[in-house]
Amino acid sequence: MLWRTITASHPGEDGGLPESDDMTYQSVNPFDGKTLKTFDELTNAQLEMALETAEKCFETWRHTTFAHRAKVVAKAAALMHAHVDEFARPVTLEMGKLIDQARGEVVLSADIIEYYATNAERFLAPQRLEPTSGEAHIESTPFGVLFGVEPWNFPYYQLARFAAPNLMAGNVVMVKHAGCVPQCAIAFEKLWVDAGAPAGLYTNLRISHDQSNRVVDDLRVKGVALTGSVAAGQSIAARAGKNLKVSSMELGGSDAFIVLEDADLEHALKWAVWGRMYNAGQTCCAAKRFIIVDALYDKFLEQFQAALTALKAGDPMDEKTTLGPLSTESALIDLLKQVDSAVAKGAKLVMGGKRIDRPGSFMQPTILTDVKPSNPAFRAEFFGPVAMFFRVKNEDEAIALANDSDFGLGGSVFTKDLARGRRVASRVDTGMMFINNISWSDAELPFGGIKNSGYGRELGDMGIQQFVNKKLVRVVSMEAPL
Ligand code: NAP
Repeated sequence: MLWRTITASHPGEDGGLPESDDMTYQSVNPFDGKTLKTFDELTNAQLEMALETAEKCFETWRHTTFAHRAKVVAKAAALMHAHVDEFARPVTLEMGKLIDQARGEVVLSADIIEYYATNAERFLAPQRLEPTSGEAHIESTPFGVLFGVEPWNFPYYQLARFAAPNLMAGNVVMVKHAGCVPQCAIAFEKLWVDAGAPAGLYTNLRISHDQSNRVVDDLRVKGVALTGSVAAGQSIAARAGKNLKVSSMELGGSDAFIVLEDADLEHALKWAVWGRMYNAGQTCCAAKRFIIVDALYDKFLEQFQAALTALKAGDPMDEKTTLGPLSTESALIDLLKQVDSAVAKGAKLVMGGKRIDRPGSFMQPTILTDVKPSNPAFRAEFFGPVAMFFRVKNEDEAIALANDSDFGLGGSVFTKDLARGRRVASRVDTGMMFINNISWSDAELPFGGIKNSGYGRELGDMGIQQFVNKKLVRVVSMEAPL
């Protein structure tokens, strides 16, 4: 079994520095900077073996029944549900997510896996068409080996929403996880083995970016999905395009959080704080641009600032902690530079902007105002606890500002008038809009964006249709016109 031969690890002897600074796959606890484990990358020979095994697996798996696949996939969901704490711990240790939120992520991931075990056959059932003559239907057949490149901010949820629908569709998957969450990657691969998956059904690839390119080029690989930054998306999507391979891209976001004058202020405020600070602000669809009508702006900003001031930084393993560290020291340094540059170009720092004076990669909750369109920060994504505030006169100005973005992932509008909320939601150019709530996801609802936020959808019925061949089969009894 390949995963057993490729997961050689070198535990840090005394929790000291990494063996080598340029190793990609390292578990470093951002709470205290201690290195927990480092991992070797695959050699090219190991990668080749993994590809061979995956392709061989596909040749059998593609012919299995939905009931057979559902047995394995439902077992994986049940195992996750039964071992929530065991799965949650490495998330908190490797990327600093508050332990309660890590448990929530495990449950959501298990729910997604279970959802596809239950519903895939219905989603992919042959679809009858109504041609003018004869009979026709569409059948959905798997593509083959798929390659996923995934980020660290939801180390299981992102994997679940790629793996579960595609395995149920009859594809097999290979995943390059982010370098800073190798233990989560191993735990997720082991989950499938424990659930009875055949060798090659789910393969964790600890590979370099160069090797990723080779995987995208490989003729055995038939589709590519990436969740991550715009830069990574551009690189992998270009490579997939060159190879004429189907791809889906789930990229960054800078979601607008619009508060209209008739909003329930208290309700909106609670969601604003959660929407910006959940996962220490490191969520693609987090509320990042707070667009507040003049009538509520001062009060809203004052109360939002008070709520952020009350957060308690500490050990993310401690349930009393309300502000965890960022995922890595380099993520913190990059974010601090981004805030400095925003301020140097005219933004006003209302609070925060510095690292917290304590060990670990902690960032002060930060609020920026006066971010003008000429400031690069206006179009940027702040991937951490940094909120940008904008004052607008009315609904039209709010919509125009929300749409003045290179991103188009999600967004929210808060109003007591639901018809008004729906109207605003229809006019904002994003892949998802939420009325009186933050951008979020559930197994049964499609997730994805437009513009620089990418293309394609994961989750729901749409999430299983991405990497299947929609084959037309037609029967017509007609003589040739000779
Ligand atoms: P990232 O740096 O782009 O990394 C994401 C994944 O891509 C990692 O596995 C990374 O591997 C890999 N990667 C990066 N450049 C690559 C290249 N040239 N070739 C092959 N692989 C490459 O992003 P991140 O910092 O992990 O995640 C944060 C970003 O993801 C944010 O912009 C966030 O909004 C976005 N995101 C989007 C969604 C969504 O559903 N739309 C969900 C979550 C996150 P290494 O770690 O080895 O570099």
